[in-house]
Amino acid sequence: MSIVTERPVKKPTRSHNLDVQSRQSLQVQSEDSHLDAAPLSQKIVMTIAVIGPFLGFALAIILAWQFGWMSWLYFSLMIGGWLISGLGITVGFHRMLTHRSFETYEWVRVAWAGLGSLAIEGPPLAWCAVHRKHHQHSDKEGDPHSPHLHGKGWRNAVRGFIHAHTGWLFSKTWSDKSLKKYVPDLMNSPGIAGISRNYVWWVIASFAIPAAIGGLVTMSWLGVFLGFLWGGLARVFFTHHATWSINSICHIFGSKDFEAGDDSRNNLVFGILGHGEGWHNNHHAFPTSARHGLKWWQVDLSWIIIKSMEKAGLVWDVRTPTTKAMEAKKVA
Ligand SMILES: [Zn+2]
Ligand SMILES: [Zn+2]
Repeated sequence: MSIVTERPVKKPTRSHNLDVQSRQSLQVQSEDSHLDAAPLSQKIVMTIAVIGPFLGFALAIILAWQFGWMSWLYFSLMIGGWLISGLGITVGFHRMLTHRSFETYEWVRVAWAGLGSLAIEGPPLAWCAVHRKHHQHSDKEGDPHSPHLHGKGWRNAVRGFIHAHTGWLFSKTWSDKSLKKYVPDLMNSPGIAGISRNYVWWVIASFAIPAAIGGLVTMSWLGVFLGFLWGGLARVFFTHHATWSINSICHIFGSKDFEAGDDSRNNLVFGILGHGEGWHNNHHAFPTSARHGLKWWQVDLSWIIIKSMEKAGLVWDVRTPTTKAMEAKKVA
């Protein structure tokens, strides 16, 4: 599986050269197994990242139930944060950085990469490297988070699902030094490399911003706490599981409209909850398409945002598959 475009690039550009560079980097075969255990430090960080938001969400529900500590303010912080940081992942990390499905100004790239970093799914360089590796090996040995590599039978199917959803975070994928071979183009961008280097500050900001808004609006410490709980932990909980479901659910459940060479599926629920990323079979068939919901009814919020940016003159060279390309890969 290649991340490069399905349609010929008309003129050689800087980004074209980078595409070639990325393609060459994808030829590098990784030696690690998708099941190798991670170092202890990574396991600790991932345990906090997986359990923390869940506990925060559970506490938020209990406090709302017991004391009525919930209001439109905290609900808006959670939904608004989920939309902003989630789109940072889908438009920024995924369609813009990983697949280069459109071109834009450097400041726009940095802004989207910053919003994606607020989702606490890892620094942009690591996130994009892991995802390029996923496309290179999709559902085959070497795929960091395929649900299909654990053998036959329902027990192994369950193991595969857990691995694809969160288990892979505890494999050595994240700490694999060879990951940088997947993102030479992004490492050359001072803005993107800078955000990755200073990622910890984006993590802090991701929680400090909703806490500060909660405190300033209510002028209370309780507002700070509930802003942190709903706009921080609960919002990260939803964003994480929406993204992880693309790796797990959208490689198992849904329709297969195109021949993509893997088990990716189109799934309406995560088309909505994943800001358009649930049209995952479309995406694997046409990885560099900026549009994942290829039919008019396949709701794709990220595509609406990209199309709006194009109309505003903020992005250009927006890639979508031709009718001929779609016909060629259509499942009969
Ligand atoms: Zn996939
Ligand atoms: Zn992708």
